[in-house]
Amino acid sequence: MLKRKLLTFLLTAVLLLSLVSCTPSQNAHQQDSYQTQISTQTQTKENELTSVAEKQEQDQSLQSTSNNQTVQEEEPGHKAETNLIKARVTKVVDGDTVYVRFENGREEKVRFIGVDTPESTIRVDPYGKEAAAYTESKLYKKDVWLELDVQERDKYGRLLAYIWLSPPENINDTEIRGKMFNAILLLEGYAQIMTVPPNVKYVDYFRVYQQEAREKNLGLWGLEIGEEKSTTYPGGTNYYIGNRNSKIFHYPDCQWAKKIAPQNKVIFESREEAIKAGYRPCKVCRP
Ligand SMILES: [Zn+2]
Repeated sequence: MLKRKLLTFLLTAVLLLSLVSCTPSQNAHQQDSYQTQISTQTQTKENELTSVAEKQEQDQSLQSTSNNQTVQEEEPGHKAETNLIKARVTKVVDGDTVYVRFENGREEKVRFIGVDTPESTIRVDPYGKEAAAYTESKLYKKDVWLELDVQERDKYGRLLAYIWLSPPENINDTEIRGKMFNAILLLEGYAQIMTVPPNVKYVDYFRVYQQEAREKNLGLWGLEIGEEKSTTYPGGTNYYIGNRNSKIFHYPDCQWAKKIAPQNKVIFESREEAIKAGYRPCKVCRP
């Protein structure tokens, strides 16, 4: 009897002791690990900005192709800049936007860097349908190699890429003209330049290609026939026209200003006013 009472007492004592001593230390422990978690989360948040690029590297290493290695061996100077990701075009949205499927099965909407084809979806601009049809004819169900620039995505979450029809052996004018679809759109007059920093890797090439297409009146540049071809605008204009969608502003007589849908037009009384409002000058009329 005594033994049993003693045992019960001992058990109760142990139980009470453990409750009294453990509860606060457990709390403290929980708090510790909670804090650790938060700081880890904060760190993760901070790392997120750089981790997109890292993720891309990971994707690429998973999908690394022999073509990729050829580029790197022949042109060590471009090693870091010419990481290509192979993908299959699954849908053409318009002249400068497609859907692709990567080899790991992931699908992405891709906007071509540095070029802008006339609108063919929400509204139809002159030559928009032609540009969309051209892209469809060249890319639909084809394998392409995507090259990314500094900024991986736009504000809509679309992947931003240069579209190589086949992997370039070198990064030079001939290769770009022959194999990069963004450049081909400019060369054939299906697109005009749209430069969005920091993605400007090929902007110098693109300027030359656009100029060539303009001089030959190719594609959309042929639409200018009958209009003033002059690229220098008289300084006499007293207003500028901006596009709410693209955030680009023009001289009123720019062909692109004339194509802005009425609901997207915004008038600025000065260049400064447009820039202050966050608008960029048109690359064609250069206001
Ligand atoms: Zn313009």
